[in-house]
Amino acid sequence: MNFYSLNDHTIQASFREAVIAGIAPDKGLYFPERIEPLPKEFFDTIESLSNHEIAFTAIQQFVEGEISDNVLKNIIADVLDFDFPVVEIEDNVATLELFHGPTMAFKDVGARFMANCLGYFSKGNDTNVTVLVATSGDTGGAVANGFLGVDGVNVVILYPSGKVSDIQEKQLTTLGQNIVAMEINGTFDDCQRMVKTAFLDPEITDYRKLTSANSINIARWLPQLFYFLFAYKQAKSKGKEIVFSVPSGNFGNICAGMVAQKLGMPVKQFVASTNVNDVVPKFMENGVYEPVPSKATISNAMDVGDPSNFIRIRHLYQDNFDELKEHLSSYSFSDETTKETMKKVYSESGYVADPHGAVGYLGLKEYQKSNPDTYGIFLETAHPVKFLDVVEETLNLTPEIPPQIQKVMGKEKKSIKIDTYEGLKSYLLEK
Ligand SMILES: *Cc1c(COP(=O)(O)O)cnc(C)c1O
Repeated sequence: MNFYSLNDHTIQASFREAVIAGIAPDKGLYFPERIEPLPKEFFDTIESLSNHEIAFTAIQQFVEGEISDNVLKNIIADVLDFDFPVVEIEDNVATLELFHGPTMAFKDVGARFMANCLGYFSKGNDTNVTVLVATSGDTGGAVANGFLGVDGVNVVILYPSGKVSDIQEKQLTTLGQNIVAMEINGTFDDCQRMVKTAFLDPEITDYRKLTSANSINIARWLPQLFYFLFAYKQAKSKGKEIVFSVPSGNFGNICAGMVAQKLGMPVKQFVASTNVNDVVPKFMENGVYEPVPSKATISNAMDVGDPSNFIRIRHLYQDNFDELKEHLSSYSFSDETTKETMKKVYSESGYVADPHGAVGYLGLKEYQKSNPDTYGIFLETAHPVKFLDVVEETLNLTPEIPPQIQKVMGKEKKSIKIDTYEGLKSYLLEK
């Protein structure tokens, strides 16, 4: 299958080319030329399929011609070696736990899938690929973990100094090998700007093959649609229409869910739940898209002022605002409300939600106020230990630290400190 640039549909690339380049030459995001619905039978019998079979069937059309069925099966087996349980916490309210992977945030699946594809495409090439990525927290760890030891691929991760949690920092600074962490004296937006500047800097791109591992890359974005299918498989027997509430920042995850719906998965509504970075909730209210600088919150993985994947969501509905509204609702919540909700959920059901999951819960409840006869699933995008300070302070408890986190906590942090773009540039030109 080919992918076209959202800026100009005549600019096309194969799956392989789009994964290696990350973004189209005209800086547009790549989008599949078609989304072929899966047979109804697939959804009717989904509970009889394994997660690996579901994932294979769902993603095959997008990689067709570029990755053989056997290789694809092996990639899927490597990527999906953990569980995605739907846990009911109230009547008609369940959480889809996406944090059982190696870095305990949902980005593991996309990062591993992309690392596998890029590793496969680089086999036998003599030019190395450099993955350059900015992180506000979880992307860095997932990308570092997914790409660790992949031949022919170097990874450079930029993160804002002092603005990621201790655990997040350890996850991206302690691995070594082909992974380099750059600690930027600035905000996430500064990191993102430096990455964007580097991609446009011919001195660098003439010298190095750069690609991005942010969710603009189709190999990171598309596999996220698996989550929704896995949840559907588990919740289908409830016999109610399903609503997904997705804590959203760059809107890659929710957009992948909407692709699953285009594949034919029955869903009543998607709810994009955000913190006070509310560009999309505002857009869904008045149809005006106004990006603003991001504001820092306790759900920092969603501190995004200009979500890059939202354009893909608009495109899914041909930029038709009324039609989009029939599929997407969006609400924004303050840190204070989020903390109150973490407390309420814990005291009523004993469930410990991280701040992102709590925002998802809030959005779901808001939607269910006017749509009570639905089965609601909010995505729990990170394990609560990843946001330990907030969880401890809000709930007065210390969650047990899982083994995959303990493993990195004792390791020594290694980072390169950088103040300006020139620092990044000279590093990229030197090694
Ligand atoms: C990345 C992330 C999000 C936001 O996901 P998007 O696909 O960017 O909308 C939400 N929660 C957590 C914990 C994350 O790491």
